[in-house]
Amino acid sequence: MGEMIDPFGRAITYLRVSVTDRCDFRCVYCMSEDMTFLPKAEVLSLEELERLCSAFVRQGVRKLRLTGGEPLVRRNIMNLCRGLSRHLKSGALDELTLTTNGSQLAKYATELVDLGVRRVNVSLDTLDPDKFAAITRWGKLDKVMQGLEAAKAAGLAIKINAVALKGVNDDELDRMVAWCGDEGFDLTFIEVMPMGDIGGETRVDQYMPLSMVRAKLNEKWTLDEIDYKTGGPARYVSVKETGRRIGFITPLTHNFCESCNRVRLTCTGTLYMCLGQEDAADLRTPLRMSDDDDLLDNAIHEAIARKPKGHDFIIDRRHKRPSVSRHMSHTGG
Ligand code: SAM
Repeated sequence: MGEMIDPFGRAITYLRVSVTDRCDFRCVYCMSEDMTFLPKAEVLSLEELERLCSAFVRQGVRKLRLTGGEPLVRRNIMNLCRGLSRHLKSGALDELTLTTNGSQLAKYATELVDLGVRRVNVSLDTLDPDKFAAITRWGKLDKVMQGLEAAKAAGLAIKINAVALKGVNDDELDRMVAWCGDEGFDLTFIEVMPMGDIGGETRVDQYMPLSMVRAKLNEKWTLDEIDYKTGGPARYVSVKETGRRIGFITPLTHNFCESCNRVRLTCTGTLYMCLGQEDAADLRTPLRMSDDDDLLDNAIHEAIARKPKGHDFIIDRRHKRPSVSRHMSHTGG
């Protein structure tokens, strides 16, 4: 089994894969209303994605996260999960997991568990049905709640991801902490990141630093620093009153790049070595050029050798354009 070490001595053990750029929601901070999606011909087949992911596993990736767009709207996505689950069985992979909006979980939760998925991140920014419809532009909260119930019943551990949005969900923070406590879910707050054009709104209007979120939570809850790590970028506290964890993902107020162990693959086979930089490596060409994986393995190593030290996201009134032009749904959140 190989090992991938970047120029700053960080071992790359975590691959996030955007299996489709399409989504059944249009969250206001993520996409514009009239998104243009990739033509199907440019998107890798599930077999190709499996081969690419397997090359990363062979080279030392221990954790794989499927994301998107919405991973569970990709047709026959369970075939990819099934293919990748063999790496769990062989012990080459520690974890196969997903980030999902939950809309399709009622359909897939049991099968995911059968394939060895143990936990999922479900993105949910509000518990209010009207606000949910407004944030997602047309999503139905009921459907997500049914998905969460099914996931819970199937035995999946659940972490809720909520993007902190000024004037939108900042009055619901306590309610979300309490609800997650009751349901047995962990909760992670995320700062809105300047990625991709989103139409009329600007991210200055949406942005709420998590230092503010934490200060608000401190008024009601007892938050204890803990050393819990999932291999992702969140820092965690435990909530004394609920016994659950809260994570904070703070790409803007506290840059977490020094411990970055991740790279991101898009559904077209482009590898981004950093979420917040434009540099990328084309892996589709070496993948398609030969059936044996030598070219691909070399291309992966070359890409890791130029992983940058970090990103430099900025949100303020002087920086009106997104720091990176691509949307989160393209690179995979
Ligand atoms: N559709 C899936 C979901 O909703 O979780 C997976 C993809 S979505 C792009 C992954 C995560 O990225 C979600 O939690 C979403 O809220 C978050 N996200 C999208 N755009 C973002 C942005 N500009 N800043 C911060 N988080 C963002």
